[in-house]
Amino acid sequence: MGVKLLLASAFIAIGLLLVIAIILLTVRPGAPGGEAKTETTHRLEIGSVKSCELTVVVDNNPDKGLETAWGVSILARTSSGTILFDTGPDPGVLERNMRRLGVDPSEIDFVVISHGHHDHVGGLSYIARVRPGITVYVPAGMRAPIGSGLKTVRIEDTTKLAEGVAVIGQLRGPPAEQALAINVEGRGLVILVGCSHPGVVRIAEKAAKDLGVKPYLVLGGFHMAGASPERCRSVVEGLLDLGIEKISPIHCSGDTIRSVLAQEYPENYLECQVGCRVEFGSP
Ligand SMILES: [Zn+2]
Ligand SMILES: [Zn+2]
Repeated sequence: MGVKLLLASAFIAIGLLLVIAIILLTVRPGAPGGEAKTETTHRLEIGSVKSCELTVVVDNNPDKGLETAWGVSILARTSSGTILFDTGPDPGVLERNMRRLGVDPSEIDFVVISHGHHDHVGGLSYIARVRPGITVYVPAGMRAPIGSGLKTVRIEDTTKLAEGVAVIGQLRGPPAEQALAINVEGRGLVILVGCSHPGVVRIAEKAAKDLGVKPYLVLGGFHMAGASPERCRSVVEGLLDLGIEKISPIHCSGDTIRSVLAQEYPENYLECQVGCRVEFGSP
């Protein structure tokens, strides 16, 4: 009788230990109220665009027939609408280059500004004149004034703007800087960057993580003037590690990364300057 009781208590004790072990294994420590704490991934489903055509409207890298200015502005015509990304430093240069490139301001659906530096927002007064009331998406942390006649929308986190089109929420620099990502069907993310003050690899990494889509191309300013060839190689390798296939540094990227790409990574280099056009899919 005494042995049976002992065996029964031993079984109950083992059973209790097993239950405790299971609870300890399934509930992660530190979770209040015994509730399992799951890591939240803020992945945003944005869909995709069927076609995308990029035109560099303003850049400091020259091409004949167009004006150059220190700054950047890129027009993206997509099956979800037409977006102007940054506006260069000067309203006159933006206006004249747009005319020469056959860009009608009335086709622009909205504007995205990467950050508040003058070489990216200086052309906004032209947009305000020809497209009064148009929506301009700026990083929430941007301090520079936008000027009157525009509808300013401040963006903190990665946000879908149209089917297949998203702003990659600001990274802290300073200055706070955001990027534009377009998910092109069959290719992946086309990422447009202004100056990449927070680092071009960090921006591309955030785009891939927030949207859960492989990045395909990055075009814009990489902020690497004066960088050593070693530094340029490590940035190129960082982008290739993310799955990026085409790299197109313009504006403040500097000549070193352009020549490193041309000489050592010709299959990944997409040479670009003011007036250059890149097309994906059928229009
Ligand atoms: Zn800048
Ligand atoms: Zn710049």
